[in-house]
Amino acid sequence: MNRVSRRRFLKIAGVGAGAAAAGSSFTALPGLRAAAGPSEKGIRRVPTFCDICFWKCNAIATVRDGVLWKVEGHPDDPLSQGRLCPRGTGGVGAYFDSDRLRAPLLRASVRGEERWTEVTWDEALGHVAEKMQKIKAEYGPEAVALFSHGVGGTFLKHTLKAYGSPNISAPSFAQCRGPRDVGFELTFGDPVGSPEPTDIRNARCLVLVGSHIGENMHNTQVQEFADAVGSGASIIVVDPRFSVAASKAKHFLPIKPGTDIALLLAWMNVIVDEELYDKEYVESYGFGFDAFKAEVAPFTPEWAYPETGIEPALIRETAREMARHRPATLIHPGRHGTWYGNDTQRIRAIALLNALMGSWGRKGGIYRPGHPSVPAYPYPPYPKSEKGTVDNPDHRYPFASEALTTGVREATITGEPYPVKGWLVYATNLIKTLPGQDETIKAIQNLDLLVVVDVIGSEIAGWADVVLPESTYLERYDDLNVQTFRDPFVALRQPVVESPHDQKPNWWIARELGLKLGLERYYPWKDIEEYLSHRLEAAGMSLATLKEKGLVRAPKPPLYYEDGVVPEFFTPSGKIEFYSVQLKDAGFDPVPRHTPPEPGPPGSFRLLYGRAPVHSFSRTQTNPVLSQAMDENEIWVNTDVATRFGLKGGDRVRLKNQDGVVSDPIKVRPTQAIRPDCVYMVHGFGHSSKMLKKAYRKGASDSQLITRYATDPLMGGTGMNINFVTLEQEA
Ligand code: SF4
Repeated sequence: MNRVSRRRFLKIAGVGAGAAAAGSSFTALPGLRAAAGPSEKGIRRVPTFCDICFWKCNAIATVRDGVLWKVEGHPDDPLSQGRLCPRGTGGVGAYFDSDRLRAPLLRASVRGEERWTEVTWDEALGHVAEKMQKIKAEYGPEAVALFSHGVGGTFLKHTLKAYGSPNISAPSFAQCRGPRDVGFELTFGDPVGSPEPTDIRNARCLVLVGSHIGENMHNTQVQEFADAVGSGASIIVVDPRFSVAASKAKHFLPIKPGTDIALLLAWMNVIVDEELYDKEYVESYGFGFDAFKAEVAPFTPEWAYPETGIEPALIRETAREMARHRPATLIHPGRHGTWYGNDTQRIRAIALLNALMGSWGRKGGIYRPGHPSVPAYPYPPYPKSEKGTVDNPDHRYPFASEALTTGVREATITGEPYPVKGWLVYATNLIKTLPGQDETIKAIQNLDLLVVVDVIGSEIAGWADVVLPESTYLERYDDLNVQTFRDPFVALRQPVVESPHDQKPNWWIARELGLKLGLERYYPWKDIEEYLSHRLEAAGMSLATLKEKGLVRAPKPPLYYEDGVVPEFFTPSGKIEFYSVQLKDAGFDPVPRHTPPEPGPPGSFRLLYGRAPVHSFSRTQTNPVLSQAMDENEIWVNTDVATRFGLKGGDRVRLKNQDGVVSDPIKVRPTQAIRPDCVYMVHGFGHSSKMLKKAYRKGASDSQLITRYATDPLMGGTGMNINFVTLEQEA
């Protein structure tokens, strides 16, 4: 593409030091081939960004003769490089999904029976507002909590804050990336963030500890992983399962589940003992290295062998391999890291290994991304809550940096530190995202109001009092995507087609609810275009440009220390904390330590779960395009185990967990690609909501079997890989 026509929009302060030096301007992309407007008769192309997962790749949707036809990558998108992942390409299926919610629903019988009455929006929102006002009068505004996932939750968050509640949480913290962000923040003073600023394409050695790139289809990372493999980078994969990434690896370490910290300690032991670390980097930026060195000294590869099952020679060889390529050695921070309850310390060990390699802030390691700056809409200040947040009383989890979903759930059950009586749930299926379904259902019994806003039905919608049908991302505006990245940009989601039934966009739902709650002064804009225009104009851009181009780029910042990024560490010492005094003072290990995992009952297998490249969580199983590619999950069982049980491929078993919970039947996949002490399944299947006709009872639900979890004492994350199952053969 010809990039000659650069146009300056605004000086922005927050793009990063180097970007400011470069001129601080957003840049409209010239002559976008696929921009809005007809280019062939009957064809209309509309730029937008994908919502099939949280990665937010920019896309071009095409409408042919008035009918939605396809969604492709935006040719100028820095995230996708013009190529969507299979799920994004299947995004059209979200529009055509016959299981979509069509009209507002009011519960017509007892909770959970899934019997409904269709009502108007006015009736539905009037009912919600009336209940919320009653809760506020009786218990205070804090007694209503919002659970949310993704950019679409922005306006409901605004309504809830204006209403007076600070209780807004997302499973993406305590059930996913929380331990990672806290582990890195404790070490480097900054969380990892999203998308991860991992410089995979420039890495010469990439280490994946249980990270399933290629199965978790985070588009940018998958493409960069392919580039790294193609350019001969050395790949080291640690996993109890021979994953897609493992199939590209130079070294595969089939570790005993739950022993990763032991391996990480042994790697650090070798690297320190053989003086293979980046001494200059550690001396310049490190704090507490001598104490750290003393801590890791006992943990030799020979010590780690019986813990991990990994041969000492292989531990040494892989440690030396990492050191050979430093600083372009990236030990990937991962994303979904809530495994065993010691997760923050495990990921802190990953952070420390990166620090030894000198890879934080360096090319081929973890770069420092640029931050475009677009001012927030100037709302009046929100009311201040007298009670504060409910999820983490007395800072029980002292390093929790975001609200804890499970903390809100616990308060809803116990009424402590104060009662929670209303849940608004936006685009997250809490029955499947939170471990311990019984606890979630118990909490629901204590609610006076449960409202679910979503595009499709779900198990949590099945328990709701009110279900509000949202337009898909192809039918709505959302808030701007102000994207932190190596190539930062601002992007617009905009309607491509109209909603086929009585669905409404989230901004409209949040605004109408706000008005019914008497919060007019928090909604001075009459529609989303007015809101978006205000924000964009404050940043020197226009909505018209965004509608035409889809995105505008901020200046590229320098990414690495060697390019002029100033090393800054927002830790108490102002340095990289090899030894953490703040952890020690709070009663935790200042350097991570290994505790052997609890074994399962005799004859049981540890239940592991993960992602498939064609599905997002439990949200896409009814999508007609994606379900064609995969419409049920399988249970991976080691071939020798399967033979012992007389099982062959395609046989069906039920899984019975340590607490006696039995799954729906699931197909067996005998494979050598998993250790004999574990089984593995893709998350999200085994739906039990009758709203999901096409996905009902297809495959089995891992969430149903995750009745136990180990809470991370540092930040409240819920380790979920501590459940065990036996195989119950179908008669
Ligand atoms: S990674 Fe795939 S599903 Fe996610 S936003 Fe990008 S294209 Fe869409």
